[in-house]
Amino acid sequence: MADNGPSSDLQSVYHFSMAEWQEWCAAREIKKYRAEQIFRALYQRRVRSFDEMTDVPAELRQQLAAEFTFWKSEIETHQVARDRTEKLLLRLADGEFVECVLMREPQRITICISTQVGCAMGCVFCASGLAGLTRSLKREEIVEQVARLVHQLDAGENLTNVVVMGIGEPLANLPELLPALERLHEPLGWNMGTRRITVSTVGLPEKIRQLAREGKRYGLAISLHAPNDELRNRIVPVNRNIGIDAILEAAEDFFEITGRRVTYEYVLLAGQNDSREHARELAELLRGRQSLVNLIPMNTVSLLDSRGSTYDQARMFGDVLQKAGIMTTIRKRKGSDIDAACGQLRLPKVRQEDFVVQLKNSPEKTVK
Ligand code: SAH
Repeated sequence: MADNGPSSDLQSVYHFSMAEWQEWCAAREIKKYRAEQIFRALYQRRVRSFDEMTDVPAELRQQLAAEFTFWKSEIETHQVARDRTEKLLLRLADGEFVECVLMREPQRITICISTQVGCAMGCVFCASGLAGLTRSLKREEIVEQVARLVHQLDAGENLTNVVVMGIGEPLANLPELLPALERLHEPLGWNMGTRRITVSTVGLPEKIRQLAREGKRYGLAISLHAPNDELRNRIVPVNRNIGIDAILEAAEDFFEITGRRVTYEYVLLAGQNDSREHARELAELLRGRQSLVNLIPMNTVSLLDSRGSTYDQARMFGDVLQKAGIMTTIRKRKGSDIDAACGQLRLPKVRQEDFVVQLKNSPEKTVK
């Protein structure tokens, strides 16, 4: 049976929610429990094609193949790092690309997924925004990244954590992200606890509240990176339209509504935001707030001027925060030998010359 291709006009099997599959079945006078079987096959039995859906009758499989395509992407490249981190470069139906990553630790398997093609935020240390934003991903393109990565797992391995920290600004794509996240935690889906799903944002206050009001208790990480607006405006250009105060207020609302402490991510950039003084200022800013700080020495991105702080500097910075009573961790680096570490995900095949042109218009970045 043909599995159709990414470029076919047919709907993706990963588009429908459980309720939508039930409607689809009802409209065709197919018994309701078939919807459950289809769902289980996709999300629990990890099937990779209509042929592998062996518990549904052949006739239904044919009907599915007539109306749906299994994959809307193709794996363009699949890289495995020395630490067994895996990175997939997916080519989407319209020829655009996104990356997603699978990370293994002894007790934990985490995936990192993307929500947009490119990114509009333009943070000075991150590769994902180098070529700007092309478009947001559709829900099935987000879900499919998870499916593609889950299919890389060995039989005994299970997904334990998901971080929405890949390419793009997740909260700028909530209408597609929310249904995709449903698939991760619903019982007939991948059945993960919502506590194990973390969404990372540059800090869009109204969208943070909207996520909280979903009532799902997803984790929230806010990319802060600076203890004051003057510095944040330089490192995270969209901050000029937002401001740290508005973000911290939204974070408080998030905590009040969900009961979940917000994590503040802080990428340490040598000589820019990593001094003892910055650490003190950050401690002051977060004093009395329910928060965790995750320090991340910047990973190298060729084409960008900023450099990461040393681990000694990160430890010093962390000590200042800890002594001020703020829970702090330093993020482990994974998969940097295949450019799969934080901030290294980007669109492929964009030539260096393209960036030179693009960066000329941006005072925030300079080319090496
Ligand atoms: N737009 C969202 C999601 C992208 S993830 C957001 O801004 O949160 C952004 C995170 O990726 C940052 O908080 C940081 O944790 C990480 N990151 C980006 N570039 C990095 C780099 N060069 N080195 C280390 N971490 C980086």
